[in-house]
Amino acid sequence: MHTTDTLAPPPGFCAHDRKSPLTDPWEPLFARKTDRAVVLGLRAGPAHANSRGFVHGGLIGALADNAMGLSCARTTGHAGGFVTGAWCGDPECEAKVKAETKATIRYVPLEAKDPGAPCVVCGRPGVDEATWAIAY
Ligand SMILES: [Zn+2]
Repeated sequence: MHTTDTLAPPPGFCAHDRKSPLTDPWEPLFARKTDRAVVLGLRAGPAHANSRGFVHGGLIGALADNAMGLSCARTTGHAGGFVTGAWCGDPECEAKVKAETKATIRYVPLEAKDPGAPCVVCGRPGVDEATWAIAY
């Protein structure tokens, strides 16, 4: 009798090491990495299917988004990620960060965690805590 270990990576793949709450229910996910791309894969089963038994388009879209971001990071050399810091609220400070790093503000919480902390750009008192990231 032949059985397939559905938890083991297929040939050429390894376990995908970038976990997220969105993709946790779809595990195990697998990755094949080259110098220019990250290819993601999974062994599709009922947990990945829509009501007609096909792999759900939302799953495919989410994994494509994940793979494209990781591939862009490999190609451009940017590690990606998010940076959080105090921001004075001045659009000129936001523009300066963008000009120097290509990162733009992705998130500002409804309530600042540390109001008055010095802006990471100009040093004036911060009014918000901003999270910057580079879009791919
Ligand atoms: Zn500032």
